[in-house]
Amino acid sequence: MDDAVVVGSGPNGLSAAIALAQAGASVRVLEARDEIGGGIRTAELTLPGFLHDVCSGCHPMGVLSPWFRSLPLAAHGLRWIHPPASVAHPLDGQPAVLLRRSPRETAHDLGDDARRYERLVAPFLRAPHELLADLLGPLRIPKHPIRLARFGLPGLLPAAAAFRSRFRGERARALLAGLAAHSILPLERPLTAAVAMIFALTAHVEDWPVAAGGSQEIARALASYLRALGGRIETGRHVRCLTDLPPARVVLFDTSPAQLADIGESILPASYVRRLRRYRYGPGAFKLDWALDGPIPWRDPRCLEASTVHLGGTLDEIAAAEAAVWRGEHPERPFVLLVQQSQFDATRAPEGKHTGYAYCHVPSGSTVDRTEAIERQIERFAPGFRDRILARRAMGTADLQNENPNCVGGAITGGVADLGQFFARPVARLDPYSTPHSRLFICSASTPPGGGVHGMCGYFAARSALRRLKRLPENLPPLG
Ligand SMILES: Cc1cc2nc3c(=O)[nH]c(=O)nc-3n(C[C@H](O)[C@H](O)[C@H](O)COP(=O)(O)OP(=O)(O)OC[C@H]3O[C@@H](n4cnc5c(N)ncnc54)[C@H](O)[C@@H]3O)c2cc1C
Repeated sequence: MDDAVVVGSGPNGLSAAIALAQAGASVRVLEARDEIGGGIRTAELTLPGFLHDVCSGCHPMGVLSPWFRSLPLAAHGLRWIHPPASVAHPLDGQPAVLLRRSPRETAHDLGDDARRYERLVAPFLRAPHELLADLLGPLRIPKHPIRLARFGLPGLLPAAAAFRSRFRGERARALLAGLAAHSILPLERPLTAAVAMIFALTAHVEDWPVAAGGSQEIARALASYLRALGGRIETGRHVRCLTDLPPARVVLFDTSPAQLADIGESILPASYVRRLRRYRYGPGAFKLDWALDGPIPWRDPRCLEASTVHLGGTLDEIAAAEAAVWRGEHPERPFVLLVQQSQFDATRAPEGKHTGYAYCHVPSGSTVDRTEAIERQIERFAPGFRDRILARRAMGTADLQNENPNCVGGAITGGVADLGQFFARPVARLDPYSTPHSRLFICSASTPPGGGVHGMCGYFAARSALRRLKRLPENLPPLG
């Protein structure tokens, strides 16, 4: 009997397995697909020789994750490639705003708001790693409470109101709105200002990198280190019920709360199962990948310096688009997040060619094809883009969920992260990784600190499981 089985090999599943193995536990990972990685996979989605990140494309949280930073991932083959800028935010009729490592250089792009921007970010850049360590975890007593309070109180505000009142010009407001839109919440909701500030902070500490060779290399490095610690990974093992599980003292689910409810229904209290089923996943995504004949012909060529490009225009426009998605609508001008990996990593495309990756938010379960709307937003800031397309691949909400059952309704970050579900995910419990059953745990992005490739959910879930393992007998009956 293994000490632990982990269901799912996303960044959180692999992280949980590593933390368990580091503590001396015997651990086995079961992955439904034939390849590992979940949200960190890379594939030839369009033409031979063009490598596309299937889900996650850009990794500010990956490079700054306190957990990943503690692991020897470079020794296991992971190399981050840092672009000259993290984000480019083009605007109509004026140069793009560039979010660069230097707050001063970034502020320089913001006209009259330069000083105000520097004053916003400066206090958090004195000890950013400590602040991130407090932010990226479950609700607990922070190690740096004053710093966290200085960050958290203004961060509680809705981004739209906070940045309209703080800045006078469109440029700073637009930049911060684009960062806030990563929350996949309407910008009128509390906490969205904090999301913008966290992403700004990450960009001033490390330029948002892409993984050399594709996001799959993060999974490969995690898996290689796990195997070096004695952990095992089995692919093609879809767990649908308890009897699909091999003997183990504890089981950690890198799955959606819905799957945990279905699989564990017979041994979990009905009230807990009901709460898992009430979990809110929020909007989905519509994603496009392109094989391109050359770089994207941005009207402002400085956009080629950034790994990520935010296409949505002004704060008002972005706020309107994101609010529309929450009303169940498909805005004419969606907010588009674009990543241009091949600009920095030559292994992604044949010589002289490029890849493109972009998505916009859509209502949960949407069946609407957003290809035209996304490409129109790109053409708006990069006229002639369509002429460079050699091939494209679209993924709607159903495709995303077919690729990975954790993407419920096409949701890409493990569920809504609003005030009600930020720490209380998947349900409100003192230890959110544990369940009322002493041998079942959840470790996916549907636990704190939520979506993104950082492995922190897996790390904290493993700590919870390790505490339990100390108290459980060596031999236990099967769960099913
Ligand atoms: C389109 C898209 C773009 C994104 N962009 C970014 C980005 O740029 N940067 C970033 O940091 N994050 C991004 N994310 C989010 C990020 O990918 C996720 O938050 C992260 O992968 C979550 O990790 P996880 O381990 O919780 O789950 P996942 O990565 O979803 O992995 C779960 C794994 O479990 C497996 N599994 C599920 N159910 C079962 C079962 N019953 N039996 C066996 N195996 C099972 C799945 O096949 C999958 O391999 C993006 C996500 C998507 C979809």
